[in-house]
Amino acid sequence: MVSNEKHVAIIGGGVIGLSAALTATQHGYQVTVLDPIIEDHARGAGASWMAGGMLAPVTEAWFGEEARLSLDIAALKAWPAFARNISIIAQRELAINTTGTLQIALDIDDARELERIRNFQNSVGLKAHALSRDELLDLEPLLSPNVVGGSLISTDLSVDNRSLVLTLKSACEKVGIHFVSKRVTEIQSKGNRVHQVVTTDERLDIDELVIAAGAWSSEVVEMLQLRNPGSIPTIRPIKGEILRLRSGITAIKHTLRAHVHGFQVYLVPRAHGEIVVGATQFERGFDARPTAGGVYELLRDSRELLPYISEMEFLEAGVGLRPGSPDNAPIIDRIPGVENVILATGHYRNGILLTSIAGEVVAALLAHSEPPADAEFVSLARFSGVAQ
Ligand SMILES: Cc1cc2nc3c(=O)[nH]c(=O)nc-3n(C[C@H](O)[C@H](O)[C@H](O)COP(=O)(O)OP(=O)(O)OC[C@H]3O[C@@H](n4cnc5c(N)ncnc54)[C@H](O)[C@@H]3O)c2cc1C
Repeated sequence: MVSNEKHVAIIGGGVIGLSAALTATQHGYQVTVLDPIIEDHARGAGASWMAGGMLAPVTEAWFGEEARLSLDIAALKAWPAFARNISIIAQRELAINTTGTLQIALDIDDARELERIRNFQNSVGLKAHALSRDELLDLEPLLSPNVVGGSLISTDLSVDNRSLVLTLKSACEKVGIHFVSKRVTEIQSKGNRVHQVVTTDERLDIDELVIAAGAWSSEVVEMLQLRNPGSIPTIRPIKGEILRLRSGITAIKHTLRAHVHGFQVYLVPRAHGEIVVGATQFERGFDARPTAGGVYELLRDSRELLPYISEMEFLEAGVGLRPGSPDNAPIIDRIPGVENVILATGHYRNGILLTSIAGEVVAALLAHSEPPADAEFVSLARFSGVAQ
C-alpha cells in the first residue's frame, strides 16, 4: 500500500477503467476517472454497457487460442470473490447466474461441428458434457423441437453487465473516486513523463495515467505524441449489435449458444424475464448505428432456437464497440518511452469476464511489482518485432 497519495488519472469509465480505479484506490492511490458518458453509459457506444455478460472461457475458447485460456480461466475463478468484494463496497448486490451454458445443434452438420468443438474443449481440460435432444428439452422446455443435441458447460456463467457497471460505479463513489464527465482531448508531457490531462474545461495534474478507453484507446495513445508510435499496436473497434427482449415468464434458465445459418447466436437470461440476444460482429470503424439487417438476423436466428422469442416485448437494439488488439487478446502494460503511462485495453469479446483480474494487473503495474502469474499474456512484449 502506498501512502503518498499519488494521483492516478484513468481515461475511460467502462468496466476496465472502473475496476482499475477501484483496485488502485484500494492500493492507496488517489484516483480520477474521466469519461464523457460516466453519468449515463447508455449515451455512448462503450462495450461495457452493451455486452452480453457471459463469463465463458469454455464456449469462447477457440482452436489456436489455447495460450489465452489460462487467463480466461483465472478470471472466471476470480469472479465470485470479485463480485462479493464490489457488492460489499457498493452496498449493492451483484449476482452471478450460475446455471451454466448450453451449446446447441439444430441439424446434423451442426451436431458434427459441436462434437468437434466438444472434443477440443475436453482436450484442453475444459468440461463439456454431451446432451441428447431429449435431455436438452428437459433442461429448457421452450427450445425448438428441431434441436438435435448439444453440450452442457456447467462452468460457463453470466452476469448482468449493466448491473456490473452500476455496482462498480457505486463502489468507486463509496471509496471517494472522483469522476469527471468530460472527454480527454489532450495529454501534456514534460520530458519522459506525462503530467497533465486536459478536457474541454479543465486541466488535471497527475502522477500516473491509465488509458482504458476501449475501442478509442489508439486515439488517446496518439495524444501522447510518442517518438516511436509504431511500437504500440493499433486497437480497432469491432461493432456488435445486440438486442434486449422481455416477457412475463422466465423463458430460459441457461445461456443458450448455437450456430444458425452459419451465424453464431446467443441468448443470455437476465432477471425479471429479460433475455439478451447477441451479437453481430463487423469491422466498420466507429459506426455505432444498429442496422435493420443486424436486428433481422438476430431475431431470425434466435427464434429458430427459441420460438417463444416472437411473443416477447422488444426493448432495445443497441451497438457496442469491442476493443480489438492485433491478436484479439488484451494489453495491460506500461507504454515504453514514457515513464508513467499504463495501457489497459484490447479486451475484445471477453472484457466482462476479464474485469475480475484486470484491476489487479493495473495495480501491480502502478506499484512496479510482479503482475499476477496468469497475466503473462497481456504484455506488449508479445508484439515486439511484429509489423502493425
Ligand atoms: C455486443 C457485445 C457483446 C459482448 N459480450 C461480452 C460477453 O458476453 N462477455 C464478455 O466478457 N465480454 C463481452 N463483450 C466485450 C466487453 O464488453 C468488452 O471487452 C469490455 O466491455 C471492454 O471494456 P472497456 O472498459 O475496455 O471499454 P468500454 O466499455 O468501451 O469503455 C471505454 C470508455 O472509454 C471512454 N472514452 C473513449 N475515449 C475517451 C476520451 N478521449 N476521454 C475520456 N473517455 C474516453 C468511452 O466513452 C467508454 O466509456 C461484448 C462486447 C460487445 C460490444
